[in-house]
Amino acid sequence: MHMRRAPSNERLDASRGATRRAVAARTTAPKRGGVLVRLLPDKPTAAAGLALLAAACLLLLRMPARRAQLRPRAPGPPTAGALPPGECALDASWRPLPLAARRYVSRDAVLLRFGLDAGESLRLPTCACLLARAGGVVRPYTPVSTNALVGSFELLVKVYAGAGLSARLAELPIGDTVDFSHVPKNVKVQFPFGAAHLAMIAGGSGVTPMLQALHAVLGSPGDETAVTVLASHKTREDALAVEALDAWADAHPRLTVVTTLTREPAGSAWAGRRGRVDARLVSEYVAPPHADVKVFVCGPPGMYEALAGPRDDPALAGLLRDLGYAADQVVKF
Ligand SMILES: Cc1cc2nc3c(=O)[nH]c(=O)nc-3n(C[C@H](O)[C@H](O)[C@H](O)COP(=O)(O)OP(=O)(O)OC[C@H]3O[C@@H](n4cnc5c(N)ncnc54)[C@H](O)[C@@H]3O)c2cc1C
Repeated sequence: MHMRRAPSNERLDASRGATRRAVAARTTAPKRGGVLVRLLPDKPTAAAGLALLAAACLLLLRMPARRAQLRPRAPGPPTAGALPPGECALDASWRPLPLAARRYVSRDAVLLRFGLDAGESLRLPTCACLLARAGGVVRPYTPVSTNALVGSFELLVKVYAGAGLSARLAELPIGDTVDFSHVPKNVKVQFPFGAAHLAMIAGGSGVTPMLQALHAVLGSPGDETAVTVLASHKTREDALAVEALDAWADAHPRLTVVTTLTREPAGSAWAGRRGRVDARLVSEYVAPPHADVKVFVCGPPGMYEALAGPRDDPALAGLLRDLGYAADQVVKF
């Protein structure tokens, strides 16, 4: 099976792009006729020159602080912290944990750090999520930090408008608590994953469990699994964690990342794939069913339905079944 490395323009970092555009927008000199130009006299005076200098200094002083508000997550190297199930710091009972820090990493995604006890690590098994509860709403989230992080763990959360939990997390005051639990039902496949080829098909925030699995695969010395990530997002600005995937694909030739955008405006600068994950894309990049392959799927309900059948139904349906994959080759996260 020929695994083509995706052209780098397919792995562009949306959040980095958004940051660059935001900074560019702030630093671009006002066009002729703009407010600043119109406030200045036709013949510059010493006072006007000083005012201009002061304004420029003010802008420069404010830039780092603003830039820090929208900073893509520096992924760091993949870190194998795989532990067997049953050792997690959380169990089925709800434990309130304080929000220690929040940072926007794209226009609608936040990186949240929640505090554990001093010296305590999450000790989460590979490919597992936590349940978070606030205001009576319960949702699963997959930490993007590894068990190597002590005293806290991190969630990468895409924020949806409305009264749901993600919107609540985006507004939660620092120091306020969210209830967390961890149940065995939410532990999926364990590392080593037992296949020579791994395909990870992720939609939107469905990329977070894939990051967790990639930490284990790429961070384990001697592991030779070939991995293909097919990540589907709405637009370039929506694309989550492309920075991390991009950096890891550059450093690990056995990782191929393909990003496809479903609602990127026609005529935009995006030169990579467009459209949903379909039979053509899967056949092009995923090892065929007769190979030693496993396919991980995580995304919105519609993605499960189309690719593998409903998330809670262990039977395989949809595109992957039609292409010949067996139920035991596909893991629904
Ligand atoms: C195993 C698992 C792990 C997950 N891990 C993460 C994670 O690490 N980070 C993260 O941000 N999310 C993750 N999710 C999704 C998360 O659990 C919530 O579904 C999401 O935060 C929306 O919840 P909400 O209460 O804010 O929105 P809701 O009130 O449930 O929905 C608000 C609106 O957003 C839409 N919407 C909700 N979820 C999605 C989605 N996934 N894709 C597209 N549209 C959606 C709904 O249709 C609705 O219009 C995970 C889901 C699963 C099943």
